[in-house]
Amino acid sequence: MKIGFIGLGNMGGPMAANLAEAGHDVTGFDMADVTIEGVTLANSGADAAKGADVVITMLPNGQILRAVAKEIIPAMSEGSVFLDCSTVDVESARAVADDAKAAVLMALDAPVSGGVGGATSGTLTFMVGGDQNGFNIAKELFDIMGQKAVHCGPSGNGQAAKICNNMILGATMIVTCEAFALADKLGLDRQAMFDVVSTSSGYSWTMNAYCPAPGVGPQSPADNGYQPGFAADLMLKDLRLAQQAAAAADADTPIGQAATALYEQFVEQEGGTGQDFSAMLPRFEKRGRT
Ligand code: NAD
Repeated sequence: MKIGFIGLGNMGGPMAANLAEAGHDVTGFDMADVTIEGVTLANSGADAAKGADVVITMLPNGQILRAVAKEIIPAMSEGSVFLDCSTVDVESARAVADDAKAAVLMALDAPVSGGVGGATSGTLTFMVGGDQNGFNIAKELFDIMGQKAVHCGPSGNGQAAKICNNMILGATMIVTCEAFALADKLGLDRQAMFDVVSTSSGYSWTMNAYCPAPGVGPQSPADNGYQPGFAADLMLKDLRLAQQAAAAADADTPIGQAATALYEQFVEQEGGTGQDFSAMLPRFEKRGRT
């Protein structure tokens, strides 16, 4: 396929490289000066999009996505697929999809889970909203860039799935960390705590697969000085998107709201920026009840 790829950063770069390596004809564009193996660079987003069967965007936020979409939609061929893989607010995803449909394009919002490691190794999970025919066309590309793609319904539903998942993830990480800090104060050994919880009803992905306590459970960022992994800043971004969506939909999400406030405090006031989101554990270790 002829693919346009806009936004060749930490995630988009390796995703585009994997598509090129699989034999697709990839033309990319990024505002920053980048070089991606196998990818031809264009001078603008519109140039990268021109004549492509599928245009992929992997951008920082909804505002930038809306601006890029305005530029590239008029350049795209009728019947081609606009595939946005960025994590953005549900409203922007739906607005961009409406503009794409008005230009007779097939629109998909397909945020990912799996991080830079997953982007590099081609093992991302895609949560996809939008046109079923577009999904069928893009499936071949999802299979190269990832290991699973789930069609979640109409436009915006990929973003909805992503922020609901990450609201669970953020809240679960916090409670896992506070439970470890409580166990410490009660004199309960961390390994014993892990052995019990990981095989009891308190188990979770954060405990079993990404344990925030160093030296306990499988290898995780905790064993590497809390280098991300998944940065606390990105968790805060996703929790804020979840709260934005909850406010717009009048959904009551008290734990999601509390998790957002805690990550906000951690990132903006307590030096959590640049650390893995599991560094909540050393944060709790240092604190008392007030
Ligand atoms: P990044 O900042 O490394 O990459 C974004 C790229 O977009 C940059 O290279 C930037 O120069 C480029 N860009 C910005 N404005 C542009 C424009 N107008 N035209 C062309 N290029 C432009 O970010 P990333 O880590 O690659 O994340 C991309 C998206 O993926 C975000 O929405 C993020 O939330 C999501 N995501 C990231 C991770 C992760 O672990 N990094 C995991 C899952 C999802």
